[in-house]
Amino acid sequence: MLSTMQDVPLTVTRILTHGTQVHGTSRITTWTGEGEPQRRSFAEAGARAAQLAHALHTELGVRDGDRVATLMWNNAEHVEAYYAAPAMGAVLHTLNLRLPVDQLVWIVGHAADRVVIVNGSLLPLLAPLLSRMPSIEHVVVSGPGDRAVLEADPAPGGRRPQVHDYEELIGGRPTSYDWPELDERQAAAMCYTSGTTGDPKGVVYSHRSIYLHSMQANSAESMALTDRDTTLVIVPQFHVNAWGLPHATFMSGVNMLMPDRFLQPKPLAEMIDAERPTHAAAVPSIWQGLLAELAERPRDISCLNQVTVGGSACPPALMVAFDKLGVTVRHAWGMTETSPLGTIACPPAHAIGTDEEFAYRVTQGRFPAGVEARLTGPNGERLPWDGTSAGELEVRGPWIAAAYYGGVDGEPMRPADKFSEDGWLKTGDVGTISPDGYLTLTDRVKDVIKSGGEWISSLELENALMAHPDIAEAAVVAVPDEKWGERPLATVVFKDGVTVDFADLRAFLADRVAKWQLPERWVCTTVVPKTSVGKFDKKVIRRQYADGTLDVTRL
Ligand code: AMP
Repeated sequence: MLSTMQDVPLTVTRILTHGTQVHGTSRITTWTGEGEPQRRSFAEAGARAAQLAHALHTELGVRDGDRVATLMWNNAEHVEAYYAAPAMGAVLHTLNLRLPVDQLVWIVGHAADRVVIVNGSLLPLLAPLLSRMPSIEHVVVSGPGDRAVLEADPAPGGRRPQVHDYEELIGGRPTSYDWPELDERQAAAMCYTSGTTGDPKGVVYSHRSIYLHSMQANSAESMALTDRDTTLVIVPQFHVNAWGLPHATFMSGVNMLMPDRFLQPKPLAEMIDAERPTHAAAVPSIWQGLLAELAERPRDISCLNQVTVGGSACPPALMVAFDKLGVTVRHAWGMTETSPLGTIACPPAHAIGTDEEFAYRVTQGRFPAGVEARLTGPNGERLPWDGTSAGELEVRGPWIAAAYYGGVDGEPMRPADKFSEDGWLKTGDVGTISPDGYLTLTDRVKDVIKSGGEWISSLELENALMAHPDIAEAAVVAVPDEKWGERPLATVVFKDGVTVDFADLRAFLADRVAKWQLPERWVCTTVVPKTSVGKFDKKVIRRQYADGTLDVTRL
């Protein structure tokens, strides 16, 4: 028997029309570095999104399913593109401006992007690549920057795309658009993984997946934001849709504070001081930087009721440091393939105010109803949710990828190491799940240290090291060892002006982890190499070790 309910498509268009009507006075504030920030209401941004859609359609010939790329910081114009392209039936493709240029060229070609909207400040990055991006027909430039770099001669045989100014292109066009009725399953946006091995892989989000994910992001068990909040969206819009915030905010009228290109600790601290956001979202390395800045130039950041930290493991020490500043850290786990919200660490009612509360908060968090999870052992066996059995995490749900984009003429790709035969996503993350559904990650499948038949968690060692008061950052990787197969190599960055004897660090660790897990190999460095989205790049450390370029102390 079928239900009697209406079958209304869940679309980005609906989020847009709701946000601009019901929450028209909520604001997007974009930091400009000097002078007054740029302020734009949701109603204004919605009207400009309609103007952009008209321009894309009539002037640039963008049609259903065409890819419209963005190479942009977090700002109001980027939000406008977030809505204009999907709502008109095209596909928004956010480009990660920190990727190696060859990967960027490859991605644009693979997605066959026809248009790229670029911030003027990023033209020096884009201009020299355009001759290698033959699919790009139009470049739309937004914001300050030297347009002259686009006038250099194209490579021999190369074609020069047409260049437009964003404001001139949209100016004077109608501020409403007759948005088409869309199938909720059609592509709305795409994002390539920041793949550390092999070619990046394209994840294509549907209108439906974005809609459902936004509802999850807004739930009380998640970020729980309302129109009384302002969220500082530090996580880039080119990294998994800024964790869904540009969509979730339009659903609930949450004001957005956008840092544009001012992502260094000092301007971030200034923004918080001046604009008083109540929420912020970023990877741990951003928060480490902010803490160091606040130690040097103290400011009151207690306006932040809550910050969402994810993308890589949040060191418990970071959580403690924020607790002292009156800011609650909510740890979350996710991936490009999971839209990204997979878990979030809100402690259960019975633990609040007890000794257990912190133990729950440092987990990666609890699965929401929309994400089913299971653990698979090394021989493919299902492992119980007992809080101790560690296996590879597999997930499925309405905002989780079922395949990767196969290119213009290609079939969707379902590599066996990423998708199980019965359609679950294999996350490549190893961990345990407690009986009440809290995930604790211990490693990536490829980062776990296999020492003499036992597994050592690199994450556990890193967290233990980062609890040392003189350590700013620590990364632990597996290196080959004749006797044990693999052993941990600890790379540490000391806080400004301090050094600690490695033997003392080992003694410090000995109180926290089993003796056989203690690293023998130690390296002091000034910075841990990071990936394009700010995670520890362990493959670089492993390569440096293999090349003999690290100054290793052996204890
Ligand atoms: P990306 O697709 O670039 O967002 O990377 C996703 C990967 O980041 C996950 O598979 C995890 O390995 C890692 N990750 C994300 N959040 C966390 C977290 N809270 N703790 C540990 N690892 C995380």
